[in-house]
Amino acid sequence: MAKAQETVLEINLTALEHNYRYLKTKISSKTKFLGVVKAFAYGSDAVSIAQKLVALGADYLAVAYTEEGVSLRNAGIKIPILVLHPQIVSFDTIIERCLEPNLYSERILTAFITAAERHQQKIYPIHLKFNTGLNRLGFNAKDIPSIVKKLSETTAVKVLSIFSHLAASEDLEEKDFTLNQIKNFNIISTQIDAALPYIPFKHLANTSGIINYPEAHFDMVRSGIGLYGFGNDIDEDKNFIPVATLKTNISQIHYLEPNESVGYNRAFTSNKKIKTATLPLGHADGIGREYGNGKGVVCVHGYYAPIIGNTCMDMIMVDVTDIDCSEGDEVIVFGNKPTATEFAAGANTISYEVLTGISQRVKRVIVEQQNSINI
Ligand SMILES: *Cc1c(COP(=O)(O)O)cnc(C)c1O
Repeated sequence: MAKAQETVLEINLTALEHNYRYLKTKISSKTKFLGVVKAFAYGSDAVSIAQKLVALGADYLAVAYTEEGVSLRNAGIKIPILVLHPQIVSFDTIIERCLEPNLYSERILTAFITAAERHQQKIYPIHLKFNTGLNRLGFNAKDIPSIVKKLSETTAVKVLSIFSHLAASEDLEEKDFTLNQIKNFNIISTQIDAALPYIPFKHLANTSGIINYPEAHFDMVRSGIGLYGFGNDIDEDKNFIPVATLKTNISQIHYLEPNESVGYNRAFTSNKKIKTATLPLGHADGIGREYGNGKGVVCVHGYYAPIIGNTCMDMIMVDVTDIDCSEGDEVIVFGNKPTATEFAAGANTISYEVLTGISQRVKRVIVEQQNSINI
């Protein structure tokens, strides 16, 4: 793969294929697969990820907001797209672009039925989300009678699926809580199946749900972070390959004497002779100030180099005192080493945040190896 001559986020579609195939080994051939491509496909590139997922045979895609779904439709993506958090002002666009809304409350269900009727729709596909313990979005079980009544008064919509979301599927210390969410979802499913004149399909598991709770796979699973190469667990991570690698190169090397400082506000002062490298990325690229002052650590020729001083808008400085490196040499901010999980841990956060935080200023480069990796 080409050496970085500027800051780029390299997106490896062969790694995506590996992760997809690995996740598929975890589920039955009858279980549908939804690829979550919200937030620019976790900060990578939604269109190329979605196109690859379609080619691999994914059944569904999901985005958070309507405009994300519109971009996929504009790129020619034809498979069903679930919009996880649609806003009422976007309902006309949802219908015009054949997107499928998650409806999670009386208010939003009523508004969508009104929009579907205004567009003279018949059995427009909708998905109902139930709250089973996350307490974020979703109807509660007690809402079922009024949902069923509302649905019986219109032919404009049809409930294609019901679903819920797990709060702590990656945390086995919360196993009892998760099992209770699964139980609640089963109870809700039974009530819905009994009350509607048709049977919607069911889905509950995210990536860690796929891995840790086979009994929660139902008719479809929804994976985001796993597709991008993370298993939310040190051992499980070994089965995945990170899709995104944030690469850059050294703009300038400085040799500093003891007591010289580095960067704004002189946040770092060395007590010995050091060698520093200045890199062309900063908080405007998504490497926030929380990564400064030793919290974030990048890799130069395989060796770890901590960020020193404060993160600037367009630059960071790293300590390369013991590393044989020159101006123009490649630097890996995260990828295989350090992984986004390891890089994020320095600033007390998680892979999801560092990946989705890489700003649109960073050029995305799509790579695909000729020979796919067999698992
Ligand atoms: C983001 C999201 C997912 C994906 O979760 P991962 O942990 O990334 O697999 C699945 N379902 C819903 C409702 C989500 O919002």
